[in-house]
Formats: sequence, structure tokens, C-alpha cells
Amino acid sequence: MHEFVATVIRPAGAEWDEREETPWPIIQEAAKIGLYSVDFFSQQWFDPSGLGIPLAFEELFWGDAGIALSIVGTTLAAVSVSTNGTEEQMAEWVPQMFGTDDDVKLGAFCASEPEAGSDIGAIRTRARYDEAHDEWVLNGRKTWATNGGIADVHVVVASVDPQLGTRGQASFIVPPGTEGLSQGQKFAKHGIRASHTAEVVLDDVRVPGRCLVGGKDKLDERLARTREGRHSGRSQAAMRTFEASRPSVGAQAVGIARAAYEYALDYAREREQFGRPIAQNQAIAFKLADMRTSVDMARLLVWRAAWMARNGKPFEAAEGSMSKLVAGETAVWVTEQAMQILGGAGYTRDHPVERFHRDAKIYTIFEGTSEIQRLIIGRALTGLDVR
Ligand SMILES: Cc1cc2nc3c(=O)[nH]c(=O)nc-3n(C[C@H](O)[C@H](O)[C@H](O)COP(=O)(O)OP(=O)(O)OC[C@H]3O[C@@H](n4cnc5c(N)ncnc54)[C@H](O)[C@@H]3O)c2cc1C
Repeated sequence: MHEFVATVIRPAGAEWDEREETPWPIIQEAAKIGLYSVDFFSQQWFDPSGLGIPLAFEELFWGDAGIALSIVGTTLAAVSVSTNGTEEQMAEWVPQMFGTDDDVKLGAFCASEPEAGSDIGAIRTRARYDEAHDEWVLNGRKTWATNGGIADVHVVVASVDPQLGTRGQASFIVPPGTEGLSQGQKFAKHGIRASHTAEVVLDDVRVPGRCLVGGKDKLDERLARTREGRHSGRSQAAMRTFEASRPSVGAQAVGIARAAYEYALDYAREREQFGRPIAQNQAIAFKLADMRTSVDMARLLVWRAAWMARNGKPFEAAEGSMSKLVAGETAVWVTEQAMQILGGAGYTRDHPVERFHRDAKIYTIFEGTSEIQRLIIGRALTGLDVR
């Protein structure tokens, strides 16, 4: 894995960052060696230690975050179907998200909307059931979707009953080539520029009844329980799923931070000023000491949460959120320190650290901002509805 990342992904990082395009040839190469495949990700996901995904993701993102996100973006959609879907849905749709090693495909997970980012309960996209045709009809506008519009399979979160907030929402699989789904604006971004981020417009999109993730019986039962005011447990189940997936996002940030630390360490040992390597100044060596310590701390939080998730331990202190919070903030801080250590060189595109810094910033924003992670941790610790 490391060899592939070091020889194929790392050297291509700068080029795809400049091109701001999905690196299809690299995804294809990853598929050829079995890395971009259902088998690889499911093996890592089900590794009994829980460390398979964190190790793989750290390595990939150590290579280049934009390319790596293009490779792992599909897993967001795949995980949403495998966590909440039926076995038939997994077998039918997950392989279609990846395609084959000759003809790779992508998946996209579309939850966020212009008016519903952190406040995911405010989703306006509507799903209406057309009983006569056993079809769901989706209407709305999604935003910030990784692989949105270029994916073969989209998984769309929509509201079946807006009055019930998140408990009235469900996910729908939109099969390849479905009419009415189109890409809106593609965003020009600060970092992870090789990863495609776009709006997805849903205009009377009709999907077969079997595309409701988890099935209609389960949804009807949940809606009935919620309407009767009986505790459905869905929110708690959703929270558990988020807690379990956050360490994998944290691992991505750890990969970027480690790349920046290693680059700065090499540079500081080589670069001489005042007749000695700059690393011989405590100011620089202490920075390196703090950077390495922070990277290791973040990684250990990620590993702890990933192990807890795999072994069914309760996240009593929101340990999944802790790992994502610390890893994201560490990546931003470490990459900035790395730029400082490189001085003027660090500010140019002759070295990768300015790209690492731009890439790192997304980790305090997506998959729950740092503020939202603190809210979740605060609620878990106090047992109060902290706002
Ligand atoms: C590059 C990129 C890729 C993405 N990929 C996907 C994807 O594939 N699928 C998907 O569904 N979404 C995706 N997202 C969306 C992402 O998850 C959201 O951007 C994120 O959840 C924040 O929502 P927002 O941008 O609307 O910010 P807002 O929710 O508007 O937040 C703005 C600021 O207010 C703060 N804030 C909001 N509420 C509170 C509160 N209660 N207390 C304290 N502070 C608060 C936030 O922390 C933030 O600092 C992506 C985003 C980006 C930028």
C-alpha cells in the first residue's frame, strides 16, 4: 500500500491539484491493484481490530489528500447502504458504485443542502411515494456532494415527513442514468482540489420502491412509532453510526499531518542558516517535537475510537467525535508549522506543504465541523442538551 501511495499517488498530487479534476487514471490504477474495490474496503472495514480502515486511510492521505478523497469518496455512499440497507441492496448497488478494474465508477452521498449543513434536520428535499407505480419521487437541491453528478450511483437523503425532522428522513439509491438527476454548480475549492464537489439537482427523480435504503416496512414502522410519540431509537442509532465512521475521517487528517511533519523534518535537517542546520535551533526542534507528539496523539485517539466501534463499545464520551476533532485541528496546526519551518520555500508551490495546508483545512469543516464535534462531546459528557 505504502509503495503504491509513494510511487503513484504522491508524485501526482501537485498536477491533479492544479488541474482540479477527478484523477480517473489514478483511480483506474488503484482498481487494477485491487485497492479501489469493494473487496479491499470491506476487508479493511471488517478487520477485527478496527484498524484496517484507519491504517489504509492514513497511508492514502499521506500520499495526497485530493487524490485519496477521489479514491475513498465512494465509500461514503457504500457505507450508508451497507450500514442501513438490506443484504439485497448491498449486493445490487455497492459493486455498481465501484465498477470494474477496466471501467471504474464512483458513488456519491448527498445529505447537505444550501439550508441544511450542520442542521441536517432542516433538509428540504422531499420524497413522495407513488403507490400506483411503486416508485419514490425525489425533488430538491443537494450541495457539497463529493462526486456529485459524476457518480454512477447517488445516495440521497430526503424527507418523507418534514414535521418529524431527522426521524422523518430516509436515504434513497438513485441508479445510474436516472432521469431528472443533474449536476449543478461544481465548486472551485481552497484544497482537496482533485476531489470533485458539486451541487446535485433532483427534478422529479423517480426511483423504484426497492431503492429506499432499508426497505419500506422498516420506514413505515419507524414513522408510525415516531408519530405516536414512542421513542424510535433512530437518532441514537444514527449517532452511533456517525461516531463509528468519524475515526476514518480523522485518519485522513492524520495522514496529511504526518506528511507535513515528515517533509518539514527532512527540510530542517538539511537547510542551513548561520552555519548550522535550522533543526539545531531549539525553536525549530521544539516545533518538530510538538508536531510529532500531536500527530501521534491524534492517531491514538483515532485508533481508540476505531477499535471501540469495531468491538461494539459504547461511545459514552463521544470518543469518535473526539478523534475527528483532534485529528482535524492537528492537521491544520501541523501543516501550518511545516510551512513556517520551510520559510519562504514553504509558501511556494515548489514544495508540497502549502498544498498540505490547504488540504488540511477541510477537516475542521466537513463531516461535522469542529464546533459540532465539541457540541456532541459536550452533550455526551454533561447529559444536557447543550446548544
Ligand atoms: C469539500 C466538501 C466536501 C463535502 N462533501 C460532502 C458530501 O459528500 N456529502 C454531504 O452530504 N456533504 C458534504 N459536505 C458538506 C459538509 O458536511 C458541510 O459543509 C458541513 O456539515 C457544514 O455545513 P455548512 O457548510 O452548511 O456550514 P454551517 O452549518 O452553515 O456552519 C457555518 C459555521 O457555523 C457553525 N455552527 C453551525 N451550527 C452551530 C451550532 N449549533 N453551534 C456552534 N456553531 C455552529 C459551524 O461550526 C460553522 O463554523 C462537503 C463539504 C465540503 C466543503
